[in-house]
Amino acid sequence: MLSEHRLIVLSLALFVQAGCKSTDATVESDGGPSNITTVCDVAIVGGGVGGLHTAMRLGAKSGSKVCLFEKEERLGGRIYDIGKPPNPAAAPFLGNGGRRVMDGQSVVFNLAKELGIQLDEPKTGSDLVFARGKFATNKDDFLPLYPGLTYDHTKPDVESQLLQQLLSSPERAHADKYPDFKSYIHQVIGPVGYQYLHDMNRFRGDFEYPLSARGYLDFLAEEINVCCQTFYPVGGMSAFVRAMAAKVQASGVRVFTSEPVTAINGTSGVYQLTTAKRMVAADKVIIAVPPAAFDHIGGSIAKRIQQRPEYQALIGVRVTVINQWFKDSWWDKVRTADGKNIWRAYTTGHCISYVEIPPEAYAAPMHAIRTVYNDSAACAEFWAKLAKGPIEQLEAELHKGLDHLFTDNHITTPVQIPPAVATTFWEWPDGWYWLKAGSPLTNADIFQWATEPLAGEDIGLVSEAYNPQRSAWTDAAYKSSIHLLNAKYAMKLSGE
Ligand SMILES: Cc1cc2nc3c(=O)[nH]c(=O)nc-3n(C[C@H](O)[C@H](O)[C@H](O)COP(=O)(O)OP(=O)(O)OC[C@H]3O[C@@H](n4cnc5c(N)ncnc54)[C@H](O)[C@@H]3O)c2cc1C
Repeated sequence: MLSEHRLIVLSLALFVQAGCKSTDATVESDGGPSNITTVCDVAIVGGGVGGLHTAMRLGAKSGSKVCLFEKEERLGGRIYDIGKPPNPAAAPFLGNGGRRVMDGQSVVFNLAKELGIQLDEPKTGSDLVFARGKFATNKDDFLPLYPGLTYDHTKPDVESQLLQQLLSSPERAHADKYPDFKSYIHQVIGPVGYQYLHDMNRFRGDFEYPLSARGYLDFLAEEINVCCQTFYPVGGMSAFVRAMAAKVQASGVRVFTSEPVTAINGTSGVYQLTTAKRMVAADKVIIAVPPAAFDHIGGSIAKRIQQRPEYQALIGVRVTVINQWFKDSWWDKVRTADGKNIWRAYTTGHCISYVEIPPEAYAAPMHAIRTVYNDSAACAEFWAKLAKGPIEQLEAELHKGLDHLFTDNHITTPVQIPPAVATTFWEWPDGWYWLKAGSPLTNADIFQWATEPLAGEDIGLVSEAYNPQRSAWTDAAYKSSIHLLNAKYAMKLSGE
């Protein structure tokens, strides 16, 4: 058993964080609570940022004619900030999910401005990387350990050079003939190139999951230009959730939390949704739920969507996040020879995978880090098993990982890692989505399909999942929402 005071396996939280209460205004009742029928012009299923953004825009026009149903007690979905245990609802917050915003994600910057969200622009430090028995802060220092790589020796940043080779290769025109992205990489830059990219990247899942070569390359062509400065919302990424939820509520949208939709039936503008508490009649339905959760929704409409090749072309990545709070910020003492601090450390030598040290001023008083940020399937399994056992065992393994990275790397000032005062474990079965290997479809096909997944039905899909061109970013969800609202709800929102 896990001891509760130190390890919180977070299972529920905190709609309170969003500063909202569930409202159930215009309800027509014909009996007990399970027979309530709620009538909505538009029913939105899912209150992650995609669903919330959609509710905020529609609410401004249609107010209480819009309903939003959320499975959990809290809103936010994969934006899930927590405070130090045992008070996860109390700020300051550290994310279990999305945390940052990049230069160039103008849709998110514009939204932050509209919602009055301040973005921290911290000075970041060095990366510390471990691969093939070596530590370095410059990835080019690993090159002697990867003999046979082809690159321009007169230029720095070989990782970017190799990624550019993948993008500019004439093979890209035939990417569809490759069974997966991995085999494409092998062909274009060879197995050593593959291994170098795999080991140098903080996100190993990109290189390990069976992904469509074309889908990933299309994503990469855009992602490589998502430059350069990292910003962090003051108050955590949940500042977006709180601000959108407040607008949604002020506009009169009816929000039902702790109310999972279990079935979607009907046809031609007359839809019935089932929740544990009510039947819902809606003219239009927007499903803002990604596949891992949507798979659990039944009914004829849901089934028809789930059978579509576009839906089946998506693959979710299992992601582990373990956060730890300490008595003080021991990492401040970790310095490189030229006095820089470390803000990200990643390793192929331990399932700790990727340690993220929050650089933003907002997070500093927390004395907390994301000790594990892992998207490799094998390590996700490793941590999931360990988290079921005694807390001491999990924390000992985390300590081993931190020790491996920081105590004897011959690069940074050696430190003694103190015991953590609190540890939380969280797993996303579907941290983010890609286009699956073998799919003849493109990212653009999925994005387009989501506006009308069943021809002639007033149903739309919104989520990061249905915009794999921007996989793993909130801007995917916002763009998906904007695309649907412009295409089907006669809006003229910018940022698609
Ligand atoms: C670990 C991690 C780190 C990330 N880092 C970043 C980052 O730094 N920056 C960034 O921009 N993005 C980041 N992302 C991506 C970002 O968090 C997501 O893209 C975004 O939050 C997805 O929003 P969504 O609305 O598409 O889906 P979700 O957030 O998954 O929302 C779906 C909602 O539907 C609800 N739901 C499910 N089933 C039902 C049902 N039956 N009935 C009603 N409701 C239901 C869920 O509870 C959830 O609230 C990260 C993601 C993860 C996992």
